Amino acid sequence: MKIAVIASEISPFAKTGGLADVVGTLSAALERLGHELFLIMPAYRCALEGGFSLADTSMRLSVPMSDHEESAEVVKGRLGQNITVYLIRADRYFDREFLYGPTQGDYKDNVGRFVFFSRSALEILRREPVDIVHCHDWQTALVPVFLNAQGSRYPELASAKTVLTVHNLGFQGVFWRFDWHLLNLDDHLFTPEYLEFYGNFNLLKGGLIFADKITTVSPTYAQEIMSIEQGFGLQGVLQNRASDLSGILNGVDYSEWNPAVDALIAERYNEKNLDGKRICKDSLQRAMGLARNPDRPLFGIISRLTSQKGFDLVEKVFGTILEQDVQVVLLGSGEARYQEFFRRAAAEFPDKVAVRLGFDEPLAHRIEAGADVFLMPSLYEPCGLNQMFSLKYGTIPVVRAVGGLRDTVEDCNAETSAGTGFVFERYDALELLKTIDRALLLFGDKKAWTALQRRAMRMDFSWDRSAQAYSNLYRQLSP
Ligand code: ADP
Repeated sequence: MKIAVIASEISPFAKTGGLADVVGTLSAALERLGHELFLIMPAYRCALEGGFSLADTSMRLSVPMSDHEESAEVVKGRLGQNITVYLIRADRYFDREFLYGPTQGDYKDNVGRFVFFSRSALEILRREPVDIVHCHDWQTALVPVFLNAQGSRYPELASAKTVLTVHNLGFQGVFWRFDWHLLNLDDHLFTPEYLEFYGNFNLLKGGLIFADKITTVSPTYAQEIMSIEQGFGLQGVLQNRASDLSGILNGVDYSEWNPAVDALIAERYNEKNLDGKRICKDSLQRAMGLARNPDRPLFGIISRLTSQKGFDLVEKVFGTILEQDVQVVLLGSGEARYQEFFRRAAAEFPDKVAVRLGFDEPLAHRIEAGADVFLMPSLYEPCGLNQMFSLKYGTIPVVRAVGGLRDTVEDCNAETSAGTGFVFERYDALELLKTIDRALLLFGDKKAWTALQRRAMRMDFSWDRSAQAYSNLYRQLSP
């Protein structure tokens, strides 16, 4: 079975979030299972200038965009043992500082950029036909649409089957109707049964209608997105496709995120010997300018600063949390109002709150290793990676029972010595506070806390299990 994976970001070439990690690591795991695959992504500036070993190819692509043809070149890199990564080079679209736009908003021509990318990816597939085309998120959701609605343009791919993975239904690629011409699709597809979405058009919706199989990144999220609360207007489309929709939990790359081998942390440690974690905590407190005290519970947060991640709740309870003898380290970037909130908190409580605004992967490792508790009270969470990293680092997650958080963290029950973290149900500030109190209470009982850490660290969310699930899905599709 030959597989092509198409995505708008792939680690290590370009990354803004979990998607890049997932695509990069899943691909390597699929290769280990014996699959033959190659990947396609845009040649962003960060990929071209990131010091990767890239080679030119002789491929020159020409694709329809509205009433004219546009061209692209293709360079290639390598991932895993022997996976080719094709990077579509069109500097007018991709030679920019950011992948999708600066923090204030998206690039105005994102629709054109990803119509172009999807069309170009299909041109590569015509030259190298495959059995399975695996697309990710709205940026590539047009691939199944073009393949189905314009099959005569892509005869080499007549028997190819498509899988679309939704990493976050909150991002759908909705664009105004005046850009419809860029897609070169028949007008009958600009209707509510197909891509029209309240007067605009919605790329993800098109993919959800035309892909042979749809997956999302946790079993619970697969159920949630069929509900009005979490369907973002696409719950009806998803309900219609329920028999083709499944949830496959993301995995963790334990060669990178594991305190026993992590080269970025102050001291390595493992489930049997947690001494190194104390050193990591001391080192984190020192680096962040906090009082060096092993007994003060230290909360870690690493996140995009958006309401999705539960920051409305965090804002509400922050003052109350700080009345206790705790410390908080936050690493994140995102919406200005949250950045401002945490900047102010750090200025007001310098001995308790340390904030780094920006993206800093080494610091993310040091927070995972040095914190006692990881706070992730998401409003919704398709899968979430950080709570799984936290479990491995013995940094006890406090999470809301939603999406992948529900599937990966089990509430701690002090009586039966079970559970791996602290979980609350309702999106409510008081619930969060009560849950934090439960965590703080147990933190005071060193023996029970260490037992909890050990249970958390024994959890295994490695990629091989998830890759096997994708492999089974591909097999269902192949003739
Ligand atoms: P999402 O993809 O919704 O942002 P995930 O938990 O699935 O959330 O994945 C987020 C990934 O991005 C993790 O690898 C996390 O460590 C990383 N990350 C998020 N914000 C930052 C930051 N400011 N600095 C470094 N890494 C970050």
